[in-house]
Amino acid sequence: MSSYKDISREKSTALYNVAVNYFPGGVNSPVRAFKSVHGAPLFIEKAKGSRVWDADGNEFIDFCCSWGPMILGHTNSKVTDAVAKQLDSGLSFGAPTALENELAELILANNKYVEKIRFVSSGTEAVMSAIRLARGYTKRDKIIKFEGCYHGHSDSLLVKAGSGLVTFGETSSAGVPKAFADETLVLELDDKEALIQAFKEFEGEIAAVVIEGIPANNGLLLQSKEYVHFLREITAENKALLIFDEVITGFRLGFEGAAAYYDVQPDIITYGKIIGGGMPVGAYGASAEIMSYISPDGGVYQAGTLSGNPIAMTAGIATMKQLLEDGFYEKLNQKTQEFVERLRGYISEKNYPIQINQVGSLFWIAFSNLKNITKASQIDPESMENFKKLHREMLNRGVYLGPSGYEVCFMSGAHSKEDLEEVFKHFTEAMDLLYEIK
Ligand SMILES: *Cc1c(COP(=O)(O)O)cnc(C)c1O
Repeated sequence: MSSYKDISREKSTALYNVAVNYFPGGVNSPVRAFKSVHGAPLFIEKAKGSRVWDADGNEFIDFCCSWGPMILGHTNSKVTDAVAKQLDSGLSFGAPTALENELAELILANNKYVEKIRFVSSGTEAVMSAIRLARGYTKRDKIIKFEGCYHGHSDSLLVKAGSGLVTFGETSSAGVPKAFADETLVLELDDKEALIQAFKEFEGEIAAVVIEGIPANNGLLLQSKEYVHFLREITAENKALLIFDEVITGFRLGFEGAAAYYDVQPDIITYGKIIGGGMPVGAYGASAEIMSYISPDGGVYQAGTLSGNPIAMTAGIATMKQLLEDGFYEKLNQKTQEFVERLRGYISEKNYPIQINQVGSLFWIAFSNLKNITKASQIDPESMENFKKLHREMLNRGVYLGPSGYEVCFMSGAHSKEDLEEVFKHFTEAMDLLYEIK
């Protein structure tokens, strides 16, 4: 067996060479650059169902799915028809619309973990606002986050672990004032002792602990139910709020996301990605009591010119309706699990040092012998060389994975049995190439 020939990237490369004149790194979001994999980023022209096509006409089965939003597959006709119809009525009014009520009702009537919600335009905005709300509500300033969790690019959250078990973080981006990092403690995931110590050292000072519903931005770091419940208890005991950042897991693991998966009631939940069905929407929600602190009811200010945008709401509504159809999640999750089990079977037969973590319709390929990776520190950066090879081989075989080994794969409702049969064949052959032909 030999490697597949490299796909043509003539047009993508030409577009990229133009883009670098306009945008830093040629992209409008750094994860899109192919910095950690081979070649120029592919410029996508169109997508339908499980497939995307690039500017050179290459066709791929897509496991990036716009980083999660396209859970129904691309260009879902019920979503695009609804959007097309709405377009005639106007793009934005800066005044309330019935569409906002409709999307809120679909969400709140089917999600027992939130009573009131506020729509914003991105996941970053949702989490940034949730943090402000937690600080306004508790009248405390410090927050705890975890190494390996991503919560968007607001100042308070671009902080990584310093040295030591419980220390204030260091900024993970230039331009973030040290004063922000001084308010953010960064702990390891899956470590109860660190939490106990942090709450002891900063008694009465912690406004909130923020965690991804299931950390899925730096590998897929599955946390035990016991740990998550401990987190709920220790925050409640210390009158700190528990913020579940469900920008990925919300409407993904099931309609009620990770809160239902763990059977835990967070104080504030943030959403993004799927909620807008491919349009820019984020949201945060909580009990009516906590949400009453938000302006104009309360003193925590938060606003947005394009919040609740009618076109975006329409895409969200058409998406939610389909997610709420009987058996949607059972089918999607089972399909993903079966696919992953099959890959695992092959991996163990061949004894390859590869693990696949999976939950719901998310999975992550780790080049590691460690069976149960739950923390960022357990991911070996050297193993990303293997991902780089895998990524190139998969692209050449018509399978699009997110361009980094730290990223998870997203399955959609549109991935067919035939798609997965094809992908299985390519995955297993690519793994054989990695380990049998050096
Ligand atoms: C993507 C993501 C964000 C940021 O959302 P944007 O819409 O990119 O601003 C925040 N938190 C989590 C968990 C995410 O996955």
